[in-house]
Amino acid sequence: MDKILRINMSAAGGPVARTEPLGDYAGLGGRAMTSTVVAKEVPPTCHPLGEANKLVIAPGMLSGSAAAMSGRLSVGCKSPLTGGIKEANSGGQAAQVLGRLGYAAIILEGKAAEGDLYKVFINKDGVKLESAAALKGLGNYATVDKLAAEYGGKVACITIGQAGEMKMSAASVAVTDMEQRPTRHAGRGGVGAVMGAKGIKAIILDDEGMKMRTPADPEKFKAANKAFAEGLRKHPVTGEGLPAFGTNVLTNVLNEAGGYPTRNFQTGRFEGAAKISGETQAALENERGGEGAATHGCHRGCVIRCSGTFYDKNGNFLTKQPEYETVWAHGGNCGIDDLDLIARLDRMDDDFGLDTIEMGATIAVAMEAGLAKFGDGQGAIKLLQEVGDGTPLGRILGNGAAVTGQVFGVERVPVVKRQAMPAYDPRAVQGIGVTYATTTMGADHTAGYAVATNILGVGGSVDPLKPEGQIELSRNLQIATAAIDATGMCLFIAFAILDQPETFNALVDLIAAFTGQPLTADGVTALGKTILKNEREFNRAAGFTNKDDRLPDYFKNERLAPHNVTFAVTDEELDTVYNW
Ligand code: SF4
Repeated sequence: MDKILRINMSAAGGPVARTEPLGDYAGLGGRAMTSTVVAKEVPPTCHPLGEANKLVIAPGMLSGSAAAMSGRLSVGCKSPLTGGIKEANSGGQAAQVLGRLGYAAIILEGKAAEGDLYKVFINKDGVKLESAAALKGLGNYATVDKLAAEYGGKVACITIGQAGEMKMSAASVAVTDMEQRPTRHAGRGGVGAVMGAKGIKAIILDDEGMKMRTPADPEKFKAANKAFAEGLRKHPVTGEGLPAFGTNVLTNVLNEAGGYPTRNFQTGRFEGAAKISGETQAALENERGGEGAATHGCHRGCVIRCSGTFYDKNGNFLTKQPEYETVWAHGGNCGIDDLDLIARLDRMDDDFGLDTIEMGATIAVAMEAGLAKFGDGQGAIKLLQEVGDGTPLGRILGNGAAVTGQVFGVERVPVVKRQAMPAYDPRAVQGIGVTYATTTMGADHTAGYAVATNILGVGGSVDPLKPEGQIELSRNLQIATAAIDATGMCLFIAFAILDQPETFNALVDLIAAFTGQPLTADGVTALGKTILKNEREFNRAAGFTNKDDRLPDYFKNERLAPHNVTFAVTDEELDTVYNW
């Protein structure tokens, strides 16, 4: 990956693409690349949908190589949802293909003329920019079908649906999976709205004729990759739980722990949890059969294989196996206990191009406002359809939980920096509350997954109901996560590398053998700290202060059943997370 593709959408006479050397960005990948470019090139106070914002799409440092698990694609910009810096990453095929094509980043800048929509085709011969007028108003599935008919069944696609075109703050960027379906999403923070604002509907990547990226030290790389993959296979979470049941294995676990946010975070246990658990979901998928019913990878080179396929009652493909966060957002958080209905909502989100977490949280807030009743699945489908149709109500909902709560006068709105909280109540999992409050991203479980240590006993053990030890835990996880997000590795490797020193060492050796540069554990930590520092400085310059690093008041005042707890980490403690 020795070049950057820059596309100026504002150029006189139409968009212009140019390829340039890496320059100051040499050696960066994934979140390190996106956040460095955004921090350096985007004015922090600019309008997120304006000309000055940039959308940066970057494969990880190891993407496109034979390194196991290295296929995450980072998408970064100033977020229209939070107003701060954003990195959202996705699985799917695009990162591997972009890496093999030799691009360390695509930077979309400027803004197309009002109403113009373009597609970008990239292959070994170069870059072509063409009108995408024929794709206007289409969902991601129809868009990818048309692209497959034009470019063939092997290309990887990065697309937006109607939500991105309408520049909604909950809009995602979709990435096609191994079956060339748009089921993988850089979901959070409205990155799809920024792609829509630039006037890009699709990026099509064809790596035919390109080779896998080769490591600097092939022998050491091969040995480290083998040890790394073995470590993943032998850990109970990455080797057994995730492959057998997918991420939804967490429903029963979180419900049992009393940290499963139910009916818009009113309680911590859902009576319908068993009906929508990973165990029930896996049994249903296996019963309905069809190719791919067993768990499989979302991109080439995944050895954990936490994904799967969801077929409807008639055995027809409906969507990929909905993730834990999605099943919770559209399930327990809305009082819904019907897996078929949740899968339908997931399909709609993927097609319109929406973040499932933001939309589930938004529908729950709308239910609290009385727009539908908790548990009313058809009501939830109707609300989501309004978003895809772009009705006035849909435009409100499509801009997320914070806007919806404000419009309808709801006090219980579970957001930090205007981004909706995921599937862990911070009162019963206090470590994740620290991450929600302090990460640069707005409420985001992936930024420092303290659930691992609070609930799953991975990487040690910290009492989830108490504030003690949570600051240090979240800080260390946020630093480690930022570094992992730079490599292009799926975050689920964290379970094994936190518990098994030899697997962590294999990862460090893998990176060092690939780059040919010596690397130590301290070097990994330093990389994570640098990323976080850049992001935090951007947010400060955009106007964020310590007061933005807080949970909504009700988490401190309303006790959560069944443990009868409030969030007990003090503001003064939260302000020490970045003291290292
Ligand atoms: S573990 Fe799951 S999310 Fe991660 S790369 Fe594999 S299939 Fe994708």
